Amino acid sequence: MLNIIIFGAPGSGKGTQSEKLIEKYGLKHISTGDLFRTEINKKTELGTLADSYISKGQLVPDEIVIEMLEEQLKSCCDLPGFIFDGFPRTLFQGKSLDKVLSKHDEKVSLVLSLEVADEELIQRLLKRGEVSGRSDDNREVIESRLNVYYEQTAPLKEFYSNQGKLVKIKGHGSIEEIFESMSKAVDQLIT
Ligand code: ADP
Repeated sequence: MLNIIIFGAPGSGKGTQSEKLIEKYGLKHISTGDLFRTEINKKTELGTLADSYISKGQLVPDEIVIEMLEEQLKSCCDLPGFIFDGFPRTLFQGKSLDKVLSKHDEKVSLVLSLEVADEELIQRLLKRGEVSGRSDDNREVIESRLNVYYEQTAPLKEFYSNQGKLVKIKGHGSIEEIFESMSKAVDQLIT
């Protein structure tokens, strides 16, 4: 299987690029943020709990995220692969993902890291906030999401770089240009 992590700060374009990768390579999309937003909209217990963290720009606790992930991977094995979007977000989640995948005799194939400057991230998120209706796309919460990203999520880059799996992708430019760089990295792996 081809198991790709799409990595990057909030607003770096993970969701947009994931959609294109899914279309091209037939992967199953696992976006923990989307999964939480579905629960929030359905007003489930999990959704209410997740929203109490998300609306403050904090991470949802690891145990909750990992339980949800395991559920998603249960029916995994007759697929070309997965694209993990917004997960893992902590070192603990990264190590847990390896464990869960190895139970299915699988591993992470590639980590595509979208590199975008902070000022651009903030502008993109504020713009999205005008239409998204998301409780976390406002200036104050955006700042805490970025802090959380640098403190808790960015260290994963070293984790994957040490395994030779990290490919940095310039996240500025047109959606197509960025997608081309991503596809190149994937094609190098599969051909
Ligand atoms: P973005 O990348 O724009 O921040 P996401 O949709 O990936 O958007 O995530 C939105 C919020 O959902 C995060 O700020 C966090 O509170 C929560 N969340 C999503 N994925 C995870 C995760 N893997 N671990 C912890 N919290 C998560």
